[in-house]
Amino acid sequence: KANRLFCPEGSVIEVRDKKIGGNKFSVIAGPCSVESEEQIISIAEDIKESGASFLRGGAFKPRTSPYSFQGLREEGLEFLKAAREKTGLPIVTELMSPDKIEQFVEDVDVIQIGARNMQNFDLLKEVGKTQKPVLLKRGMSATIEELLMAAEYIMSEGNEEVILCERGIRTFEKYTRNTLDLSAIPVIKKKSHLPVIVDPSHAGGLWWLVEPMAKAALAVGADGIMVEVHNDPANAKCDGQQSIKPERFKSLMDILKRMAEIENKE
Ligand code: PEP
Ligand code: MN
Repeated sequence: KANRLFCPEGSVIEVRDKKIGGNKFSVIAGPCSVESEEQIISIAEDIKESGASFLRGGAFKPRTSPYSFQGLREEGLEFLKAAREKTGLPIVTELMSPDKIEQFVEDVDVIQIGARNMQNFDLLKEVGKTQKPVLLKRGMSATIEELLMAAEYIMSEGNEEVILCERGIRTFEKYTRNTLDLSAIPVIKKKSHLPVIVDPSHAGGLWWLVEPMAKAALAVGADGIMVEVHNDPANAKCDGQQSIKPERFKSLMDILKRMAEIENKE
């Protein structure tokens, strides 16, 4: 169902009054995790002002260590809803377990399936039974074919509202957290009609790599990016080293808008 043949012009996913796919470049931004109501509202207001169209923020966090901050869970969802209420930005947040699915369908606009759960087939089938847009992240050791098959698990249950996300894969290179597989974007575009976005934050794992990798994402034809933005990266509960401040996010947006304008003139 994800095969390009089924929709040669490329599919467009509608989320509230926003769209992902087509000839638009969509920007999803926000902190790795929701830390407080004030934090998420303040970041949401800043990114909206700079031109982002979706707010991200983890409430349920898949952390490597069980001793690390695990997210504010239900309370985090409430704070995300408050930020949506305040700014009108649709919210994107990660679902880790099928037992929360009803609440997510009710509360969130895009359900994120994280890299660690890309092949959690029961979870994929459950989101497949809903009609919520799903942001499916590539597993850190998954091939493009495996990513597309994971999308099939969702689509085969009846939900065709799938957005793919390249977030870097594990290679022998240790300088960066992962290696951004830029060629995955044109390869996926050739094979599938689904929109595909890039997450330059988790790919590089370093805040100063976000801007060049975001520019590269636009250049290779991605349908958008998802960027981690934090008001106080040094004290972030999660992924501070790869988070950019709202001021830097604004300058990134200005650069991307200029690039997109030039592209549109062709
Ligand atoms: C995230 O987006 O915060 C996240 C946990 O990403 P990934 O699943 O790609 O590691
Ligand atoms: Mn993160």
